[in-house]
Amino acid sequence: HGELRQADAEVAEILNDELHRQQDGIELIASENITSFAVLEAQGSVLTNKYAEGLPGKRYYGGCVDVDRVEILAIERVKKIFGAAFANVQPHSGANANQAAFMALGKPGDTVLGMSLAAGGHLTHGAAPNYSGKWFHAVQYGVRAEDGYLDYEEMERLAREHKPRIIVAGGSAYPREIDFARFRRIADEVGASLMVDMAHFAGLVAAGLYPNPMPHAHIVTSTTHKTLRGPRGGVVLTNDSELAKKVNSAVFPGLQGGPLMHVIAGKAVAFGEALTSAFQTYQKAVFDNARALADELKNRGFDIVTGGTDCHLILVDLRPKKVTGKVAEAALERAGITANKNAIPFDPEKPFVTSGIRLGSPAATTRGFGEEEFRMVGRMIDEVLSAFGTDQQDAVEQRVHEEVKTLCRRFPIYSVAYP
Ligand code: PLP
Repeated sequence: HGELRQADAEVAEILNDELHRQQDGIELIASENITSFAVLEAQGSVLTNKYAEGLPGKRYYGGCVDVDRVEILAIERVKKIFGAAFANVQPHSGANANQAAFMALGKPGDTVLGMSLAAGGHLTHGAAPNYSGKWFHAVQYGVRAEDGYLDYEEMERLAREHKPRIIVAGGSAYPREIDFARFRRIADEVGASLMVDMAHFAGLVAAGLYPNPMPHAHIVTSTTHKTLRGPRGGVVLTNDSELAKKVNSAVFPGLQGGPLMHVIAGKAVAFGEALTSAFQTYQKAVFDNARALADELKNRGFDIVTGGTDCHLILVDLRPKKVTGKVAEAALERAGITANKNAIPFDPEKPFVTSGIRLGSPAATTRGFGEEEFRMVGRMIDEVLSAFGTDQQDAVEQRVHEEVKTLCRRFPIYSVAYP
């Protein structure tokens, strides 16, 4: 310890500042979490030195005996979590995992049908500025104007009209359960493959609190760092042995070079954690806490898109409070609460402004917040946003910031000095 501080004081100071930011602030970004020290340790290990192109037992480099063991552990554990016959744990990120799935299921020029970014889908599901929208012919479904729920009728109509090669289910800001069986039925009807991106809700699936897409999808992708609480990274799962071969060659040599073996070690640790009963208890709390926060905000006059949540995230329509997402994000940050502005369905504001914020329970639940604390968080959000633009603004932001720090100290994280 202290090596970094001696070798590079500038970087050490930045890391330390970020540690304190995480320790003293309430993290509500739905796609973030707080990994265990064990995951951090695996990632900060000598495995970063190792080249291991290929797969366990079939490498293009010598000296892979140990990294083979850790990759096999990661693969076996993630297969067990989700009931998958096959897993590739090498994608560097969720975006890479999705690109590998697209390469395995189709080729550039094919039609893909995914949820639009504006409705809560992810960039990699066919958005215009992403490769998925540039190299593929992307058609996008959305949510219903009347209630914000996924518009299955629109999705089915577009599938019949455009006969996509790939249909993508899953998203980044969709708070409700997805009917994977219904997606699979239309995929079969029009001759498409079904890909489910479970990045956001994978941890809930692992704990049996959200439907498992594995029995329905041809390919399932995920990130490993959101509800799953592992290192930043991606994973691809399938039950089809032919597709498994295509996924393997899409990841390497199709898209990547050497896998990040230190990250794969972190994935193995996180997957091991996800197989414990403590993880199930944690996910149940994630689930209950998101509902408590949604309920508190609703009681305080906020509009919750779809009226609530079936998972770890809620999308708040701020228009009743007369603030934009941009303003809310900045005001909350001044008060020690981190969240991200997010477009609501059919948002009249530009993407850099937005009318909403997305809130998630995974990170604060990891530090031990329960429903009572999440209701306090809802109250603090209301106080900060209600004071915005009044002469009370600065005083309220400062008072809430003090309250946030006090609350965070009751639920410490990474209490050992780091780095
Ligand atoms: N898929 C979904 C549904 C996501 O929400 C995200 C990230 O936010 C990704 C994929 C991309 O993951 P990454 O940021 O690791 O590339």
